[in-house]
Amino acid sequence: MNARPSRRFQMRDLLIVLDGPAGAGKTTASRLLARELCYTYVDTGALYRGIAVAARDAGVRAEDDAGLRALCQGMDIRAVTDAGGARVWINGAEVTGELRTPEITMLTSAVSARPAVRECLLGIQRRLGQNKRAVFEGRDMGTVVFPDADLKFFLTAGLAARARRRHAELQGDARHRDKTLEEVTREMEQRDANDSGREHAPLAAAPDAVWIDTTEMTLDEVLRAMLARVREQAGNDACL
Ligand code: C5P
Repeated sequence: MNARPSRRFQMRDLLIVLDGPAGAGKTTASRLLARELCYTYVDTGALYRGIAVAARDAGVRAEDDAGLRALCQGMDIRAVTDAGGARVWINGAEVTGELRTPEITMLTSAVSARPAVRECLLGIQRRLGQNKRAVFEGRDMGTVVFPDADLKFFLTAGLAARARRRHAELQGDARHRDKTLEEVTREMEQRDANDSGREHAPLAAAPDAVWIDTTEMTLDEVLRAMLARVREQAGNDACL
């Protein structure tokens, strides 16, 4: 990766958000961007996934708003990101290993549509972002959680490209290696429809978001495009 700026530049602190559908490359791009800038990276999907694990374990169904509200109110949810990705603890117990199973992925899409769950995570996310110097990734970062973010990206890509990427990722996991590309495509389509069609905080681009279509782009190109906008936004007249 040689997208590191050739000159160091001093810039004001920013809060940067990335939204977009599954498989658009948000996670890798956000992590690399945060690393380039020495910012904190927050994978908000991991928080929603953690709540889905807690709901499943407590036997609370996605349609049970009162049950979800009670579950969320009494919950201590913590997340950190290390080199292996986001790790999540619910009431002190680590649930990281369960976050990305296909079962939890689909349940997350259902529970994250519920207002009780969104309300619960809204305050947590805003607290995490209050000191800026952070890159947040999710579905409603630029529209609902941080409408005043300094810089908003909306990453997208064609369904076929996104499904191919997710399918390739699953090939690296012995538990899901037998999933076909068709199955991954169908699940992704279903998740897109859930996330975009829900009433509360649907997946949407903020009107002031910078769109990046990653279908034909390498990761390096995506990162360069984002860094160029960061420099513009921060004002690079303070180059050292
Ligand atoms: O980003 P990731 O694929 O891990 O997100 C899992 C699910 O969590 C999404 O499909 C979406 O339903 C939900 N989510 C959300 N709002 C966010 C982040 C994720 O509704 N800010």
